[in-house]
Order: sequence, then C-alpha cells, then structure tokens
Amino acid sequence: MNGRVLIVGSIALDDVQTPFGDEEGVLGGAAVFGSISASLCAPVDIVGVVGDDFPEAHFNRLRSRGIDTAGVEVIDGGKTFRWRGRYEGMMEEAITLDTQVNVFSDFRPKIPASFCEDSIVFLANIDPEVQLAVLDQVPDAKLVLCDTMNYWIKSKRDALIEVLKRVDIALMNSTEARMLFDTTSLPKAAASLLDLGLKRAIIKKGEHGVLMFNRDGFFSSPAVPLEEVVDPTGAGDSFAGGFSGFLANAGEISEESMRQAVVVGSCMASFVVEGFSTTRLEEVDAGMLEGRCHSLRGSMNVNRLRIAERTGVAD
Ligand code: AMP
Repeated sequence: MNGRVLIVGSIALDDVQTPFGDEEGVLGGAAVFGSISASLCAPVDIVGVVGDDFPEAHFNRLRSRGIDTAGVEVIDGGKTFRWRGRYEGMMEEAITLDTQVNVFSDFRPKIPASFCEDSIVFLANIDPEVQLAVLDQVPDAKLVLCDTMNYWIKSKRDALIEVLKRVDIALMNSTEARMLFDTTSLPKAAASLLDLGLKRAIIKKGEHGVLMFNRDGFFSSPAVPLEEVVDPTGAGDSFAGGFSGFLANAGEISEESMRQAVVVGSCMASFVVEGFSTTRLEEVDAGMLEGRCHSLRGSMNVNRLRIAERTGVAD
C-alpha cells in the first residue's frame, strides 16, 4: 500500500445558479471536488473521461496540486459531462435542471497499473456500472468508499446495490439514504446499508452535520456553522476527499482515525461552499484546515456528566 488515493467519478463542466450568482461551464464533477480536497493531505490519482472541450487550464489546476491525471481519457470530438443545477432559498438541495452524461455514456474505466496499488479507493458519484468495473480492477485496496446520488438511485438501483455489497464504506446524503431504502429514518437506512455487508455508513446532513454508523454504534459530527454559503456544489465530494486523504496520510484505519477523518471531511466541505466551483477549495492550506478542525473538534468536547452520581442514584 502506497499511501495514495485513487478517485474515479465524474469530471464535469457545471452551470450553477445560486442566490449569489450564475456561473457557466465551471470546473466541476464529483471526482474533481474529491481529488482537490484529498490532495491537501495525500497524493491523488484521478480517473475519468472528458471531451476535447475540457480546457487545458483545468488539467493544469489539478496537476499543480500533484494530482496525477494520467488516468483521465480525452475523447477527440467528444463532449465533457455537463451538469446544470440551481439552489434556491435555504440552498439545502440542488435542483438538477439538466444532466448530459456525454463521454461518460461509453466510458469503461481502465485503471493504470500503478494506480491499482493505491491504499484508498474513492468511487465518487458516477454510473454504478462504471463503479463496478473499477472494483474488478482494485481487489487489493485497503479501503474502498463509494458515493452516489438520486439520479442513479432512480435509474440504476440494482447496479448500485451490487456496488454497495462490495465496498467498505458508503457515503450518502440524508435524502438519498431515505430514498434508497424508502424510509424516513436515517438509523434504519444506515442499518439497511450495514446489512448489505458494509463496514460503515456515512450519512451527510448538510448544515446539520454528519452521522457515521457501524455495527457498534454511531459517531456524529456537527457541520461548521457558516454565516454565508455561496455555492453548495461539491460539499459531499469534498467531504469524501478530505476523509480519504486524511486516512491515506494517517496510514492506519481505526475507530479513532475514522472519527478524525470525519472532522477533516466536514471542514473541507465547509470551505468548498464558501465560493463557486472549486475556487475556495483551492485556496485552503494545511494551516487553515488545522485551524478549522481544531475549532470543530473543540465544539464536540463535553465532560462526563455524572448524572446518576449528582442525583444520588449511584452508590
Ligand atoms: P455534490 O454537490 O457533492 O453532490 O456534487 C456535485 C457534482 O456532482 C457536480 O460538480 C456535478 O458535475 C456532479 N454531478 C451531478 N450529477 C451527477 C451524476 N448524475 N453523476 C455524477 N456526477 C454528477
């Protein structure tokens, strides 16, 4: 195991509308947010496909962070995955206006041999059949995570369930988890995920934080309270990237390192939403991340309450 993170998923040009403005054709895609976020803590290999309309400058932004783009196929005459979304009001959820899968419709990933050694594999949001094809090529990964979204839950549920049966950790937002198992209860949705054989289920609740379940219980982290959210796009992917990058760097996978990774993921997610596309994420350095993690961690500390003792119930 080499301490690197392999990230496979959408690489996109996004058109995003929020109450703070409209941005056309900006750098996006689940694998892009995930890679930029993970690359703060660990070296990253990204795999995906783009058309020849994908600007070279975007490649340079990734490469300047040490992200290896050798696994990104460029299709001559092809068009890059394009997503158009809008956020309204409280901006809790993206309203998808249009998804053009384009070059991803025929994409069969070929993972470069050296990437197959990567310690952590993050199957970012993309067609679950593509995720299955990746899984066949990385049998030795130390930890495999996967993310998805409502688009695939509705269109490819069976393939998605197959993916979930074969990975270690599922990441989902609360709406997706409820939709997948047709329940309003997040603990029930998490139990259904664990029943598929997953080691952990991580359910993201936007500004209400994140829950990480395993068979022994759960861990909960708040989100960083922000006065202004400019563009929520990529929050989930940035969480997953921060989580994966931290674990790859830590080198050990334990209850403690997973909890720390949740805090790192939550902080990376809090940065990305402060600007459009990946702009803010690209400004984050280790000191900024450390500072935010320190304050989030501090907010979670509470001394033992000793209620039984105080009320005289204990001996
Ligand atoms: P998030 O806000 O974390 O859910 O991720 C947003 C990113 O997901 C955007 O940059 C989109 O390009 C990408 N995206 C949107 N729809 C899909 C889809 N159906 N499959 C894969 N990626 C998508």
